[in-house]
Amino acid sequence: MKPERIPVCEPHLAGNEERYVLDALRSGWISSSGRYLEDFEKGFAAYCGAGQGIATSSGTTALHLALVALGVGPGDEVVIPDFTMAAVLFAVLYCGAKPVFVDAEPDTWNIDPAGIEAKIGPKTKALVAVHTYGHPCDMDAILEIARRRGVRVLEDAAEAHGARFKGRRCGGLADIAAFSFYANKIVTTGEGGMVVTSDAALAERARYFRNLCFPREGPRDYAHGDLGFNYRFTNLQAAIGLAQLEGIEAAVEARRAHARLYNARLSGLPGLRLPAEKPWAKNVYWMYGVCVEEARAGLTREELSARLLAEGIETRPFFKPMRLQRPYVERFGAQAGSYPVCDRLAREGLYLPSGTGLRESDVERVCAAVRASLKA
Ligand SMILES: *Cc1c(COP(=O)(O)O)cnc(C)c1O
Repeated sequence: MKPERIPVCEPHLAGNEERYVLDALRSGWISSSGRYLEDFEKGFAAYCGAGQGIATSSGTTALHLALVALGVGPGDEVVIPDFTMAAVLFAVLYCGAKPVFVDAEPDTWNIDPAGIEAKIGPKTKALVAVHTYGHPCDMDAILEIARRRGVRVLEDAAEAHGARFKGRRCGGLADIAAFSFYANKIVTTGEGGMVVTSDAALAERARYFRNLCFPREGPRDYAHGDLGFNYRFTNLQAAIGLAQLEGIEAAVEARRAHARLYNARLSGLPGLRLPAEKPWAKNVYWMYGVCVEEARAGLTREELSARLLAEGIETRPFFKPMRLQRPYVERFGAQAGSYPVCDRLAREGLYLPSGTGLRESDVERVCAAVRASLKA
């Protein structure tokens, strides 16, 4: 008999989603205004400890909108991690700006603060701090450098809903933040995203550019002073989002419980490195990632992944470095310099099933299969 499939991640819709969506539908408010939209924007921003939320069509558009709000444009440079998701790179390229890469920290896999200062120059306008796989960046170190050098900081918290740095939630730690609500994120609305900020001027700019730069005041005379975007989000999606927000702490605690079980069962295996949680961090383990060191584990990441798949267990490899992506290389040529940590993560990393709805027995099955694979 074929073993039951354990997916890497599936949306968890266990609360008021259906009730709220029907209510929104029946109210007739199905487009980009309505009570659910207001409540979701306010509620999600407040959850992050921030003043305002500007919901968007995706995490990618949230990142772009946040960079536009910060005034990033052609000729500017933006410091980003080399180890991250392509949306970060692309958002910088949409602005016509140049991405400048920093290597990762070996334990948290986040941008290495020690590598940032050397990458800041006269053209640097902003830095994107991505809280990778749910572990917060070292924001004190990042903000200290950025403030001193006059660089604005955008948090990409797409993978870190509910994560905390020194007790404070990600998304409320820097100038502005971007979230994604894609189907595999901890809070999902199917597709969607949000810009979150406590800076009223940035929020106003984000709202303005989100909606085609319609005139801010006065009559709708269809005079547009800037090149805007339609990055709007719907009340129907917000209805799902509001229900998801009610369940966010339960989702975070479920993921942390899965991670504790993974840690207990997988620690001490030769050649298998587990995710970190710094003493100052609350990791939400958006994805439970491990690194397979071939020489000690006796097999490659690909071999482990194939053996798990044969048992019905899905995995995904880690991100490939941004500096090697064709849209970057086509524009700026091959990137000099070495990024040893990113290169190793890209070669050795994979993530195990991590969805909120996993059962304890699923995690036990995955761990047993990993242990058997490493011994085989
Ligand atoms: C998912 C993700 C995004 C993009 O979000 P979409 O909603 O898929 O556009 C951006 N950054 C990071 C780090 C992500 O994980």
